[in-house]
Amino acid sequence: MKDIYAYVDRHRDRYVEWLQEICRQPSVAAQDRGMKETAAMVERYLKQLGGEVQLVNTSGFPVVYGLFAGESDRTLSFYNHYDVQPEDPLELWDSPPFAAEIRDGYIYARGVADNKGNLIARLAAVDALLNVRGRLPLRVKFIVEGEEEIGSVHLPEFVEMSRDLLQADGCLWEFGYKNADGRPQVSLGVKGMCYVELICRGANTDLHSANAAIIENPAWRLVWALSTLKTPDERVSIAGFYDKVRPLADDDRIVLEQMIYNEEHTLEKLDLCSFLLQLSGLPLKEKLIFQPTCTICGFQSGYTGQGAKTVLPAEARVKLDFRLVPDQDPHDIIQRLRQHLDQHGFSDIEIDAYTLEHPARTPLDNPLTRSVVATATEVYGIRPTIMPMSPGTGPMFLLCQSLGIPAVSVGVGHFASNNHAPNENIKVDDFIQGIKHIAAIIEDFSRQS
Ligand SMILES: [Zn+2]
Repeated sequence: MKDIYAYVDRHRDRYVEWLQEICRQPSVAAQDRGMKETAAMVERYLKQLGGEVQLVNTSGFPVVYGLFAGESDRTLSFYNHYDVQPEDPLELWDSPPFAAEIRDGYIYARGVADNKGNLIARLAAVDALLNVRGRLPLRVKFIVEGEEEIGSVHLPEFVEMSRDLLQADGCLWEFGYKNADGRPQVSLGVKGMCYVELICRGANTDLHSANAAIIENPAWRLVWALSTLKTPDERVSIAGFYDKVRPLADDDRIVLEQMIYNEEHTLEKLDLCSFLLQLSGLPLKEKLIFQPTCTICGFQSGYTGQGAKTVLPAEARVKLDFRLVPDQDPHDIIQRLRQHLDQHGFSDIEIDAYTLEHPARTPLDNPLTRSVVATATEVYGIRPTIMPMSPGTGPMFLLCQSLGIPAVSVGVGHFASNNHAPNENIKVDDFIQGIKHIAAIIEDFSRQS
């Protein structure tokens, strides 16, 4: 692989320019900003590298699909997304979010870590292999969607239409980070998601709060309903919520024990003195990776502006997310939530479903994981830490496990990449190493079976 690595080093500036170019093109799915232009840019990159490209239209933003022929029948696919989160609050950025400025070896841009850095690193790896070897050792597929940051709403449509395009022996998932100690992290799954809004209505208008003596307040009702969902020891009280949660397997426990999680650094960065329930060590890691959550993401009702306003609100709304673990099913969880509210006297509270995504896991021992770990050790000179599942969420089950494809996450971000936050960044050196790692995985995986 030395020839490939040397090629990547020699073309470092060009790859960084590709990355800057795509980062300078806003692509905010939530606001339909720059989406067409960015999809076209991804299409152009894939075509320039000689890929067979399809822009697959859905009812939402298109999926860009690219196919590269290879010497063997083995196929490796890449899942990435070209959309990014909104960039505000603007005033907290040290350089404009779409300027892709490089300072002290870091490149700053909305989307550079999540997910344009990884997308470009994968394109660059294919470019380097093609230029040095003339051919790829296996077939490579790019699946680049435009709605990851808004819950991959129309991705099921794409999967329905394009099932045969997706078949692969393994899939490299969109993200990956280095820990605070510089060790790359490889993760083998994602949590699922059941994102809902609960709506409680009272009178048909806001009222003078003097009426609170005789008229029911929907904000109180919603608070009472919420208080039945979880106890202070962090147990979700919905009947059957934990029924499908797999007990911790022995090999997962071993991986968890070896997994590095820097507690001190995290607490210090967040200005906190302890984690939830004073957890630390193995129980903390187990809770982070293998336990489901129930989170109040936002609560809205009545008056929350400056000064006092004595008002009895007409309505109260809360956004809740449940992160799910194997084998919980988001459709089952939403039904159980409905039953729970009904049984507790809250059948008037409406549930609006937003994102429903299945959790996904890749077994610890499979050819792709072996390739990713072995090549990471070679490229980074340090053995990566393995996270049996990421505590985040993505449409992995839909694109991979439901089709029998193992998926592994690895990428060019780092522990302080500030995804979704101001000053999102990656280290330029990590980006270059990431390109080499992807090229090495392609090579190694073509020989594994
Ligand atoms: Zn994201």
